[in-house]
Amino acid sequence: MTIFFHNSLSGKREIFTPAKPDRVSVYVCGPTVYSYAHIGNARAAVVFDQLFRLLRAVYGAEKVVYARNITDIDDKIIAAAREADVPIGDITKKFTKIYREDMGALGVLPPTIEPHATDHIEAMQVMISGLLSRGHAYAREGHVLFDVETYKAYGQLSKISQDEMIAGARVEIAPYKKNPADFVLWKPAKEGEPGWSVPSDWGIEGTGRPGWHLECSAMIEKVFEGPIDIHGGGQDLRFPHHENEIAQSCCAGGGCDEAPLARFWLHNGFLNMGDDKMSKSLGNIVLPRDLLKKWDGETIRWALLSAHYRQPLIWTQKILEQSKKQLDRFYRLMEKFPYSNEAPMEPPQKVIEALSDDLNTPSAMAVLHALRDKAANGDREALSQLRSGGQLLGVLQQNPADWFRRGAQGTGLSDEAIEALLQERRLAKSKKDYGKADAIRETLAEANILIEDGPQGTKWRRG
Ligand code: AMP
Ligand code: ZN
Repeated sequence: MTIFFHNSLSGKREIFTPAKPDRVSVYVCGPTVYSYAHIGNARAAVVFDQLFRLLRAVYGAEKVVYARNITDIDDKIIAAAREADVPIGDITKKFTKIYREDMGALGVLPPTIEPHATDHIEAMQVMISGLLSRGHAYAREGHVLFDVETYKAYGQLSKISQDEMIAGARVEIAPYKKNPADFVLWKPAKEGEPGWSVPSDWGIEGTGRPGWHLECSAMIEKVFEGPIDIHGGGQDLRFPHHENEIAQSCCAGGGCDEAPLARFWLHNGFLNMGDDKMSKSLGNIVLPRDLLKKWDGETIRWALLSAHYRQPLIWTQKILEQSKKQLDRFYRLMEKFPYSNEAPMEPPQKVIEALSDDLNTPSAMAVLHALRDKAANGDREALSQLRSGGQLLGVLQQNPADWFRRGAQGTGLSDEAIEALLQERRLAKSKKDYGKADAIRETLAEANILIEDGPQGTKWRRG
């Protein structure tokens, strides 16, 4: 099977083969764990999960090493911990757990390795020492900065020249920078902030913490020791994050003759709300956690995969409704022709072929629809292919009766989840947080759960 990917580095569609036949190495930039992931973040996680699933099917599950990091030290985390008045570890542990749960509900498999930035501070410091001694970095006012002028290939991934970077004000200007395009490798810890002491030969004092770009470079080096096959992330990471990862890794002696950090660079397009990218800063976010109260994880996943990963995806209620309708049709068929426990089948070649064409999920979905039509005419082989093809896409993994029972309730809310929401509402009321109490009532009403407050407490029933 020939696999093609669009490589952002060359801007071309290329044939993919791993550098080493017995190991396929993939790294994707993971979440900064200070808050809930939104559905745009989930798009990146689901897209690269689909890539992971394809590579496992083609090369064998044991041969694919997929690392997705956890950024557990960052300004936003420090700010969130300060606001909640709790230690940083409380915030990062809580949101790492929530991230795993939410992505798991969307069928995202756990990565092979999930390195945490704070477990690799030493590797980051070694990398900085290397950059300083090779003349690619300089220390000033407690910071260590990467000197962009010393790396002639800077801009190779994003195709942005240094002049354009400055003109477009896409880089932060700061007094301690020689050049506005220089970026932070290490920053000083302010009073009360967490920090690690620096090696004495850096020429700065006090404690500090790594820059975000450096974290990924050091973790890739630590996990894979050299260039990797595929590096992924959202399109917004192409510049400056990935450009900076390349600069650091190549200049620290990461051996970039063969490839700049990764041979293939894959970037997913944005999930948009109307004309705007979904982002926390714009305040237009939708959380998988909230959607999961109403929609099954498979419905959300199907919706996220309904557009090709490099295309923008405009998020609407309609996409979810259509996804549910399509999955209903598959499940109805599976209900009509119950599955006998035949040996699990290999995924159908046509689904693998579609995914091997630059992860063409809409085309893989079309294959499943065609199989459904065949299965509806009593083709048993097509029915089991539908199952195994669904498995590769992370859907159709439920018992049809369970699927329809939940669908009929018009909500993914289990009895336990409803009780938990009512408990939260009681608590909100006792704290006189009526806004929150009303919001919970509304959430329940949207899920068609009717509630009645009485002297014996609150009763509920499904409407
Ligand atoms: P962040 O936590 O912002 O670093 O994002 C985590 C991942 O989600 C990165 O790969 C981002 O590129 C990706 N991402 C963030 N917002 C969106 C969006 N609206 N659409 C698609 N991907 C996104
Ligand atoms: Zn990264």
